[in-house]
Amino acid sequence: MDTIFKTLKHYYGYDTFRPGQEALINAILNGRDVLGVMPTGGGKSLCYQIPAIILDGVTIVISPLISLMKDQVDALQTMGVKAAYINSQLSYFEQQVIIDEAIRNELDLLYVSPERLGNEQFLYSVRRMNVNLVAVDEAHCVSQWGHDFRPSYQVIPQIMDVLSSRPPFAAFTATATTIVQQDMIDQLNLNQPFQHIASFDRPNLYFSVVKPDKKSNELSRILDKKESSIIYCNTRKNVDTVYKSLNKKGFPVTRYHAGIEPEERIINQDKFLYDEKPIMVATNAFGMGIDKSNVRKVIHYNMPLDMESYYQEAGRAGRDGAPAEAILFYSAQDIITNTMLIEQGKSPHAKKNLNSMITYCKTGNCLRKSILKYFNQEVEWQECEYCSNCDEETITTDITVECQKILSCVYRMKQMYGAGLVTDVLRGKKTSRIQQVNFDELSTYGIMSDYTDGDIKDMISIMVSDNYLRLGGDQYPVLQFTEKTADLLKGKTKLSIRKQLKQEPVHKTKKIE
Ligand code: ADP
Repeated sequence: MDTIFKTLKHYYGYDTFRPGQEALINAILNGRDVLGVMPTGGGKSLCYQIPAIILDGVTIVISPLISLMKDQVDALQTMGVKAAYINSQLSYFEQQVIIDEAIRNELDLLYVSPERLGNEQFLYSVRRMNVNLVAVDEAHCVSQWGHDFRPSYQVIPQIMDVLSSRPPFAAFTATATTIVQQDMIDQLNLNQPFQHIASFDRPNLYFSVVKPDKKSNELSRILDKKESSIIYCNTRKNVDTVYKSLNKKGFPVTRYHAGIEPEERIINQDKFLYDEKPIMVATNAFGMGIDKSNVRKVIHYNMPLDMESYYQEAGRAGRDGAPAEAILFYSAQDIITNTMLIEQGKSPHAKKNLNSMITYCKTGNCLRKSILKYFNQEVEWQECEYCSNCDEETITTDITVECQKILSCVYRMKQMYGAGLVTDVLRGKKTSRIQQVNFDELSTYGIMSDYTDGDIKDMISIMVSDNYLRLGGDQYPVLQFTEKTADLLKGKTKLSIRKQLKQEPVHKTKKIE
């Protein structure tokens, strides 16, 4: 117990642990597998580095990005920790030197890519090392349910087969739903892991969702030339267009996407990091492993494909703890483009993930609460007072009766159809699909003909986001009842919708207590 504090002080110069660190480190030192889910910047690396320093032998760290590995190893070496990495950028000879050091027990940490573990020769060398811990960074990449699946992660558990005694296995990630968490445990074969799941709340981030008439105008209206901001676009082409337009308007801007030459990408990244060009326009290729604490705004120019990616990217704002904003622009076109993309891929997970994203864009409820609920974190408050839906500039309308009509229609359609068909039935549309299945004979047919498609779908989204309906089904999302549905049907609970009175986001700077 004392040793870990001494190590913390001696190598890192810190006096106290961040939430979760001490418990995770102790679990590892007691030989247990662990799962650490902590926000970016929460201090995950230290949780495996301290055991690596304390324990005899070498810790193997599996990390997905060469740049990330190099940064970590450089930082550790500066602190006087014996760390090294091997990757394809090193010559065969250089790799051998490092492997030999690990075998001779001269290294505390050895960073490798997941691909390396598919290499027979490397595994043969690992067999000769005294491995005290295997740590997996960005461990959500092993799950097909997550947003960043990498097939190379699936070979990771094989490392345990070559080791004579099984060391603890530690998996870390910044973002994961409960489904992804369980899947990480299953895929990596973690053995009854100690788990630390941190709160996902980021109190200093002001969340807003905006549907601007013209995105480019709105963007230049809210950007500040002196503030560091990241603008995420969905395609390289959009990055180029937004970049050119901002550049023309005199904003200090740079750009990053996979179509730009690697040398230029590094130059652009550095310009951003050192505030020479404080505004970065990028695809989602930019950001993993970027540690810039003073980003004041993360603006999504297009709606992302899922909530996990969104929250991870948005979370790059305000890492210094000072007030910052996460602003999401969306348009009807974004929904169409994303739906088409997902349909081409035919993954039911992806479809569900996208629906959660659409719900987030349309909900009238507290945005922070919606996000936390998505990550299965319940909160006591109804309103955070620090997101665009909790601002005062809204009107609230009771929609309990409308929701009851929708629910009885879902019930009469035997909970077997999606929001589109339910809406058509409620509005009393005369489509051949409806006639085929005789839904025009239902008592709920046409009972909401006074409402628009958008109104009804907004109400369905709210019920989904508040858990009065769920998106079930195997092939495509189907509206189904939950254990909470009866309360709403019987009027035991009420639902209301909030609409922003003005389109412009209200930009507030909140005092942080
Ligand atoms: P993550 O991997 O979770 O994104 P890092 O491990 O890179 O986060 O840590 C983020 C920053 O927080 C680093 O600069 C690290 O030195 C610092 N940090 C980690 N643990 C502590 C602590 N207990 N006290 C103070 N700073 C810490």
